[in-house]
Amino acid sequence: MNCPFCNIITDGTERIIRQTEYTFTVLSNPRLVPGHLLVVPKRHVEKLSELKKEERNELFDEAIKLEEKILKYFATGCDMSQHYRPFIKQGRLKVNHLHIHLRPRELEDEFYQKVLIHENEVFQDLSSEEFEKFSKMFAE
Ligand SMILES: [Zn+2]
Repeated sequence: MNCPFCNIITDGTERIIRQTEYTFTVLSNPRLVPGHLLVVPKRHVEKLSELKKEERNELFDEAIKLEEKILKYFATGCDMSQHYRPFIKQGRLKVNHLHIHLRPRELEDEFYQKVLIHENEVFQDLSSEEFEKFSKMFAE
């Protein structure tokens, strides 16, 4: 299988900076901000729902521990995210092996200045039609 994260386990373990029974952590390369980490389940899955409970627990425990380290040692904030976007072609910046991003953040840092400053143009007020549609869908 041509998966960069599975390849790390079989052939690139020097990249692993931390591991547990079900997870490993690497510095993202390429990275968005200094200290950008990826917490990865060792088993190749694409969606959170595919994780066994013990894998899920350990993945989130690791993400939380690392967020606390980031906040303790060098940043005042931390973004955490996970993306499931099967419509994007696998490539250097997109890997379909589930992973959690941890991005150390500062107020108006480089990532904000170049990317997130444009969020204001994308955010819109929630319409009553959308509220109706989604609140019913998610409440079931
Ligand atoms: Zn994989």
